[in-house]
Amino acid sequence: MHSETVAQWQLENDLRQAIANQEFELYYQPIINLKRDRLAGFEALVRWISPTRGFVSPGEFVPLAEATGLIIPLGDWILRTACQQMYQWHQQFTPQPGLTVSINLSSHQFSPDLVQQVEQILAETKLNAQFLKLEITESAMMDNVEKAIALLHQLKALGIKLSIDDFGTGYSSLSYLQQFGADTIKVDQSFVRQMEQSDKNKAIVDIIITLAQKLDMDVIAEGIETENHQHILKALNCEYGQGYFFAKPLKSEDATKLLAQQFSADHVDNSI
Ligand code: C2E
Ligand code: MG
Ligand code: MG
Repeated sequence: MHSETVAQWQLENDLRQAIANQEFELYYQPIINLKRDRLAGFEALVRWISPTRGFVSPGEFVPLAEATGLIIPLGDWILRTACQQMYQWHQQFTPQPGLTVSINLSSHQFSPDLVQQVEQILAETKLNAQFLKLEITESAMMDNVEKAIALLHQLKALGIKLSIDDFGTGYSSLSYLQQFGADTIKVDQSFVRQMEQSDKNKAIVDIIITLAQKLDMDVIAEGIETENHQHILKALNCEYGQGYFFAKPLKSEDATKLLAQQFSADHVDNSI
């Protein structure tokens, strides 16, 4: 118990140092239009490259950053860096209407200050709001649903897009789904992984895709690892996908190379 507390305390100290020393890097995982086989955007995923601990996954440090309030300065850096990067890509490859960057938002960032923060970062980085998507989980919104809906509508008024992350795993209510005003539903990777095991598991994915379509939302399947996953999802009419089968999260220079390849092949999806 004691050694666990010490370890936690050390991790917190290291995390504070990491923010001061800028030991973080953003990786970018491609999101693919499955129908057209084209790149539709990237999800930004934070990495901590610690001089003492090595590579620390967000699953380990994001919850601690949330518990200590460090997610506020870290979240600000993530938003700013991803918007700067996307602006740079749009400059480098001429504006591509379909190329968006999705950024994960912690429930702790979900306060009235957020709207002003996003507005300021967009102005500073000169990124057009239509190229920014924020990913939020249902659970984050359900903490205080009325407040969340008001905030989401203020964010949407800036012209940005919203995705519901890990759909189907959190505590949520279908009655609110429409009111969130989200543009996209992301099917959680646990459902994608289980699809092959039984028709009933596949039916869950099918229903989420149909639900999104009926509500006029885009749908992205997460965690596509095999050709068969892709095959099943295409048959279920899923429009977008993301996963190791296409690409792992990439360093920004590798994402730039991918963009260069795709542009020369005119392979960017301009539909979203
Ligand atoms: P998420 O937003 O649902 O991100 C998807 C996670 O699945 C990422 O893990 C990604 O690397 C991983 N993934 C993608 N394709 C596959 C696949 O085919 N198979 C498998 N097994 N995994 C795949 P990662 O980067 O470790 O992030 C984990 C979670 O940490 C994220 O889940 C998100 O909730 C949180 N996170 C990551 N980056 C950020 C960030 O910048 N800010 C905040 N607040 N949270 C973040
Ligand atoms: Mg996400
Ligand atoms: Mg997810």
